[in-house]
Amino acid sequence: MSHSFSIAIHGGAGTIVRSLMTPELEQDYRQALAQSVLAGHAVLVAGGHAVDATVAAVTVMEDSPLFNAGKGSVLTHDETVEMDACVMDGQDLDAGAVTLIRHIKNPVQLACDVMRKSPHAMLASEGAETFAFKECGYEYTEQDYFFTDRRYKELRAMKKTGGVALSETRYPDEKKHGTVGAVARDKNGNLAAATSTGGLTNKRWGRVGDTPIVGGGNYARNGNVAVSATGMGELLMRCTVAGDIAGRMQYGNASIEQACREVIHGDFLDLGGEGGVIAIDANGKVNFELNCAGMYRATVDESGNALVAIFADEDLSLVSE
Ligand code: ASP
Repeated sequence: MSHSFSIAIHGGAGTIVRSLMTPELEQDYRQALAQSVLAGHAVLVAGGHAVDATVAAVTVMEDSPLFNAGKGSVLTHDETVEMDACVMDGQDLDAGAVTLIRHIKNPVQLACDVMRKSPHAMLASEGAETFAFKECGYEYTEQDYFFTDRRYKELRAMKKTGGVALSETRYPDEKKHGTVGAVARDKNGNLAAATSTGGLTNKRWGRVGDTPIVGGGNYARNGNVAVSATGMGELLMRCTVAGDIAGRMQYGNASIEQACREVIHGDFLDLGGEGGVIAIDANGKVNFELNCAGMYRATVDESGNALVAIFADEDLSLVSE
């Protein structure tokens, strides 16, 4: 069946278990996910481009403290915030990515501007910010905007273990946040994907994850698929997860379900990777796949209602008021 347009989003994956979630927090997540997916859906209803729908949906999650992106980004070892984002337009395989961003409120919008207003596909760190301020008129956002006590607590806990962690880990203090992403098909059949993250808690040395890597955590190609991934970035990158899903569908004629399942439960899982993907195929069919306890996720049904799920064993459902 061909759906004229559709959208799906995720807000991160990992050890999201019922026992670590209060009813209030769970409801906050469900409402934030619904708000995000409906923002993207509104762009599609108005006849907008798939790229703009994904950027609109991701922007809502970047502005929420609940997710590990923009406002809710986790802290690095040096107690700073360093964010990565990527946008890909399946219509012409155009892509824009930014990495190690510290002073931009919505890195996904900057990634989109890199795609549309620069001749490059990826800009990093101070250079990316110079492009933002000087060429695109972005406002400088102080690091303070991104900080909360909760993040310091998480970082202190993680420093004690000496590790780095997904925002969704098995430690109660670490359970609350996730990288965000969106995939969409517009009514003209264009596919797009956008992903944004604060990365891993306690990351250092200019660590960059899969999110800004085209074909790693984000990919879109018209007639094929749009994919956004979340999970351990080192492994998502090493397994070129988004590109592998696209390749299986393009060259191996795999269905969207088969391609996502084989990739998320294949090398990525065998190597110890925890995470998931959202995807939309050329007909607008939406698919979610994860290999862990939960992934914040949502789509919109044919009547325009948001359908949301969090835990792995849960079906998508309407959000109660
Ligand atoms: N993939 C992200 C990264 O490694 C983290 C996440 O998805 O939560 O930077």
